[in-house]
Amino acid sequence: MSFELAKHWPETFRHAKKHSPFYRELFRGLKGVPTLPTLPTTDKKTLSERNLDFLCVPRQRIAEIVTTSGTTGKPLLWMLTENDVQRLAVNEKISFTCAGVTARDTVLVAVAMDRCFIAGLAYWQGLRELGCTVVRVGASSALLVLEMIERLQPTAIVAVPSFLRVIADKARETKFDLKNCSVKKAICIGEPIRDHAFQLNPSGHAIESAWGAKVFSTYGVTELANSLCECAAGVGGHLHDEQLYLEILDDAGNAVADGEVGEIVATTFGVEAMPLIRYRTGDCAALFSKKCKCGRTTPRLGPIVGRKNQKLKLKGTSLFPSTLQMVLESTGGVEQFVIIARAESELCDAIEIVICGDVTTTTLREAIQARAKIVPQIRQASRAEIEKLQLPPDARKRRTFVDLR
Ligand SMILES: [Zn+2]
Repeated sequence: MSFELAKHWPETFRHAKKHSPFYRELFRGLKGVPTLPTLPTTDKKTLSERNLDFLCVPRQRIAEIVTTSGTTGKPLLWMLTENDVQRLAVNEKISFTCAGVTARDTVLVAVAMDRCFIAGLAYWQGLRELGCTVVRVGASSALLVLEMIERLQPTAIVAVPSFLRVIADKARETKFDLKNCSVKKAICIGEPIRDHAFQLNPSGHAIESAWGAKVFSTYGVTELANSLCECAAGVGGHLHDEQLYLEILDDAGNAVADGEVGEIVATTFGVEAMPLIRYRTGDCAALFSKKCKCGRTTPRLGPIVGRKNQKLKLKGTSLFPSTLQMVLESTGGVEQFVIIARAESELCDAIEIVICGDVTTTTLREAIQARAKIVPQIRQASRAEIEKLQLPPDARKRRTFVDLR
């Protein structure tokens, strides 16, 4: 058993069992503190169905509420106490330190700060904790980012890779010399920049070459209020083992060997509001325990190589088809629809929604953006075309989600 596990596990177990209605029920009858791997796992489905049964504190102690995709069609609510927000700040501080960011850096936070996302909040808190100068440029205007680069000479940027590429395109268009700009580090969230051999993928290469900056991959999960960021060696995100314990499990639920790919299953340490024990993230990756070139001895999580189920991953967020289905079903005027998922890259799907009915694509896009936090491609088609997509000759039943990944 690792030092941090031995140190934090008993308190984590007791807190969850005593205060969370879900865990009280799950662990009923257990005496003492059981060994972690002997306990059952939970997943997003249970989290969605029993959402507030995971809450361990009275509502008046909640400082921040964020959301992430659920499985019931409604976003999952995730709550943090003031101490949880501070834990988040410390986590991001360690992550940014890992990427070599220091108090002397001026950092552009080019991710959404609103729409109930945790990411913007986490980065902002962490950079402030680290003592950096933070510029919350957001993710809506490439021109604003370029203007701030010119006026403030920032040294680092946090963004989704696809947005970094949009900014690079805008720089080319406006003859802005991005390659020689002040930004030397790009912390990349939500989309892969490496393949599973840790080599930069085309997106990672494109960003490094356009920006003249080094890219750092970071992986985070809202419910864990935690992220793992690469160091300069670029061989996996370093785990903050005083805050999080990871197991990598195979389909049968057994631990895989060091360096083998399996599902990431996490247990949070030090969380007050919504602690999680053996939570199946649905993401698959490998964990490496060998000491890193940077000298850190904490385990490293390799690139996410796949998903366990239908979860759609899109530009820094993820959602289930049911979320889109629910929006489409509840928007007036939509008569027929089909959602098509295609693989854009290993970790990013392209979603096309084909509809017919008396509704404009603008109205629908706004409804989807408000409730699913994505901006999909929407196309009007004839009823006949949609029915053909819903019921191809080889299908046994009509479907509104077509997985072509
Ligand atoms: Zn390292």
